[in-house]
Amino acid sequence: MTRPPRPYMKCNLCGGLAIIRMPQHRLNLCEEHFDQWVLKMVQRAIERHSMFRPHERVLVAVSGGKDSLALWDILTRLGYQTEGVYIHLGITHEDYSDVSQAQVEAFAVERGLSYQVVDVGATYGQTVPDLRNTGRGKHLCAVCGLVKRHVMNRIAYEGGYDAIATGHQLDDEAAILLQNTLHWRAGYLQRQGPVLPSTHPRLARKVKPLCTLYERETAAYALMRGIEFVEQECPYAVRATSIFIKHILNQLENRSPGTKRQFYDGLVRGRASGELVFSAPDIDDEPALAPDDYQTCPRCGQPTLSPGLCAFCRLWEPAP
Ligand code: SF4
Ligand SMILES: [Zn+2]
Ligand SMILES: [Zn+2]
Repeated sequence: MTRPPRPYMKCNLCGGLAIIRMPQHRLNLCEEHFDQWVLKMVQRAIERHSMFRPHERVLVAVSGGKDSLALWDILTRLGYQTEGVYIHLGITHEDYSDVSQAQVEAFAVERGLSYQVVDVGATYGQTVPDLRNTGRGKHLCAVCGLVKRHVMNRIAYEGGYDAIATGHQLDDEAAILLQNTLHWRAGYLQRQGPVLPSTHPRLARKVKPLCTLYERETAAYALMRGIEFVEQECPYAVRATSIFIKHILNQLENRSPGTKRQFYDGLVRGRASGELVFSAPDIDDEPALAPDDYQTCPRCGQPTLSPGLCAFCRLWEPAP
C-alpha cells in the first residue's frame, strides 16, 4: 500500500516550501522570505530602540558562536559600519579559545571584514581561568564578564566607536530577565534592555540588535547563510544556571508559544512607558549615572564608582 504524500509545510508568503515554523508569530517561511524577515526584524529593532545610525561605527563583540557571527553578518548586509573584536580569554580546555579565535578569523577573512583580537593573558599577564584564584570569591563567569566589559569599553573608547553590539538574542534576554526577577535584582532590571546608553565618554553605548529573534531563528539563519561557527559551549558554561533557566523557559514556550517574547517585551515596554520603575542601586562598574558621579581609576583610567582601583584592576591585585 502506498502512503499518501506528507503535506509539506508551506511558506505563508509565497506558498513555497517553508524551512522554519515560528508559532509565536504564526508564521512559516521559505528560505528567501525567512532571510528577508530576519533582516527586517533586526533593522526594525535597531531603529525602534535608536541603537545606532548608518554613519556611526559599531564594534561587534564576536565569540565565534552562531549568534555573534550571525549578528556581524546581518549588520554588514544591512550596510552598517562594523569591526569585530574577539577577546581571547585563555580557556585551554579542548583549545576552546584558540578554536573560537580561528573561527572568527576565518569568518572575517572570507568576507573581507576587519577585526582585532585582544589576548587577555598576553595583554594583562593572566588568563581568565588564572583569575579564578584572585577573583575574591566571584564566580568565574562573573570575573569573565567583568574582564570582557572592561576590554570592550577600552577598545571602543580607544577606537572611537559609537556602540558595542553583542549577539544576545531573545532566549538569552528572557533567561537573564527571569534570573534577575527571581532574585529581585532591581538595579539589573532597571538596566536590562535592548540598549544601555552611554553614561560616560569611556563607557560606550551597548546594544543588542538580535533581541527580537529566538535562538532557534539565529541558528537557522546561520545555517542558511553557511556561517561556520563554534558549536562547543565554553567548558565553564556547562553548570551555568542560565542553561537550566533556558530549559524551563523552553518548556513554557512549548506550552504557550510567545511566552518568552511577551515576558521580555513586557519589561521593555513597561520601562519605556514608565509603568515599571526599579530602584537602581549602584552596580559595580557600569551604573546608570551621570559622568560627574564617577571617579577615575588611577591605573587604567576607566570610570569607577569608588575611589581607588576599579573592579577590573582589583582583580589583578593579590588577595588580601
Ligand atoms: S561561560 Fe565561559 S565565556 Fe561565558 S562568562 Fe563563563 S567563562 Fe566566560
Ligand atoms: Zn516564501
Ligand atoms: Zn582600573
